[in-house]
Amino acid sequence: MITIALTKGRILKDTLPLLAAADIVPEENIAESRKLVFSTNHDDVQLLVLRGIDVLTYIRYGAADLGVVGKDMLMEDGGDELYELHDLAIARCRLMTARQTQQVERSAQSRLKVATKYVNIAQRFYAEKGIQADIIKLYGGMELAPIMNLADEIVDIVDTGKTLVANGLEPVDFIADISSRLVVNKASMKVKYDQLKSLTDLIASAVGDN
Ligand code: AMP
Repeated sequence: MITIALTKGRILKDTLPLLAAADIVPEENIAESRKLVFSTNHDDVQLLVLRGIDVLTYIRYGAADLGVVGKDMLMEDGGDELYELHDLAIARCRLMTARQTQQVERSAQSRLKVATKYVNIAQRFYAEKGIQADIIKLYGGMELAPIMNLADEIVDIVDTGKTLVANGLEPVDFIADISSRLVVNKASMKVKYDQLKSLTDLIASAVGDN
């Protein structure tokens, strides 16, 4: 059995055509189901639908062989147990810092409060810039934190930037370009090499076609 862990939400929507190109088709409509595991047109391939951070955990422990996850998740919580095989060039966005439009420049004296779900990325980014920052972990709705004075800045992914503008924020620093990646458990790649190699080659060859 090959188990493929998919990231739900907008990554999933763009992943399904790539899987279809590799002749992997779920047996029911994932978007309309509350199930978390789906059989496919192949008896030996199943799909899991999870949050990105959980996709990495399933692959790391070998509970899934293969997965699709945002580069932001890999930057935050990568690991030695997995290989990043291909850039799937889907769900593209940017990782940015942002702050309130009317806010003054960062002051060198005071510590910056930064709200984000990307604690590790934020810690590395501000340290490299030599900025003293206290990182506050949030699980969503980061844009609210500066408005409510919980934080001076946020670190979040930005696509059109409309969510920032709608909340009176503006992007400040570019941290990284983000897209979804095909990731494999290292041990699975050894044990199931032939199956996984042909499957991942088919997915990779469909990149850019959808
Ligand atoms: P935006 O288009 O910048 O208004 O993005 C809207 C929200 O969607 C942001 O708050 C992000 O957290 C989220 N978002 C943007 N791009 C992606 C993506 N590629 N994958 C997952 N979430 C995203």
